[in-house]
Amino acid sequence: MAGTLSDTDVLVSEVGPRDGLQSIARAMPTYLKHRWIEALAAAGIREIEVGSFVSPKLLPQMADAEQLVSEAIKVRGLTVLALAPNLTGAERGIAAGVHKLSFPVSASREHSMANIRMTPEQAIEQVRMTCELCAALPSASRPTVEVGISTAFGCSMEGSVSEDWVMRMAKHLVEAGAASVGLSDTAGYANPAQVKRMFERLRCEIGDHAGAAHFHNTRGQGLANVVAALDAGVRTFDASQGGLGGCPYAPGASGNIVTEDLVFLLEAMGLRTGIDLDRLIAARAIILEGLPGEPLYGNVPTAGLPKGFVYASAARICHEPAHSS
Ligand code: ZN
Repeated sequence: MAGTLSDTDVLVSEVGPRDGLQSIARAMPTYLKHRWIEALAAAGIREIEVGSFVSPKLLPQMADAEQLVSEAIKVRGLTVLALAPNLTGAERGIAAGVHKLSFPVSASREHSMANIRMTPEQAIEQVRMTCELCAALPSASRPTVEVGISTAFGCSMEGSVSEDWVMRMAKHLVEAGAASVGLSDTAGYANPAQVKRMFERLRCEIGDHAGAAHFHNTRGQGLANVVAALDAGVRTFDASQGGLGGCPYAPGASGNIVTEDLVFLLEAMGLRTGIDLDRLIAARAIILEGLPGEPLYGNVPTAGLPKGFVYASAARICHEPAHSS
């Protein structure tokens, strides 16, 4: 199985090939998506959400999910994730050999209907059926089912979302068989105080099933929210290279938090990610080859690493007490 975390403190899960590219209307050629995934893995990224098993009629730019999964699972040490909006998508993912299925289940009723044409309760039922299907598979071909609760911090249609409801959903999802349940700030509404409160509560409600933090930088709060989630014990963060994808509700705003800036934040704080920033930043060129002119975000790629920057793993070796002879 891919990706041991023994030499890392935080798992950075790259979602650019899915979350980033799905919100860009034009399609990146499949061979360049694959080259990008390989470059990300070579830079030390251990987990990548490579595509979405949504209907190609709805999102033609995701129509190559099968090909991407079947190529990506050959990349050594990489955990390959793909999004499935329902049982049908999950079946396609399983057939392609995906390691993990990520289900978006929206806390907002309106967002859920608009996004997947199901109520939150119906979406939870799809998770239950998928988990039952997976449980019946031989262990070698059994993907892990992870859920991110979308619009957990607020919704651009409904406005505020009840925190009690989000927690009830998380419990139902664990009962349905989800291995982990994370919280997603789909619309960029979250603030650090809310993030810390909700992830602490999530851990109280579902213990070790508490999963990833998924933040968008729509209002510039992304990295502040990461620090708040770290305080609450979160150790898996989704991010997108170059903050790819933008936000349809906020023109000019970046999409997911920027992987390059996230890795820098974590390493500078002494948390090992296993990722090489120079190699990561170099991979941006592949996005621009596939999507010429697409805006890429991020401060670290522009400013470069500070003079004398030391990765967390190297800093740890330096700070080991010297043996007295
Ligand atoms: Zn997202």
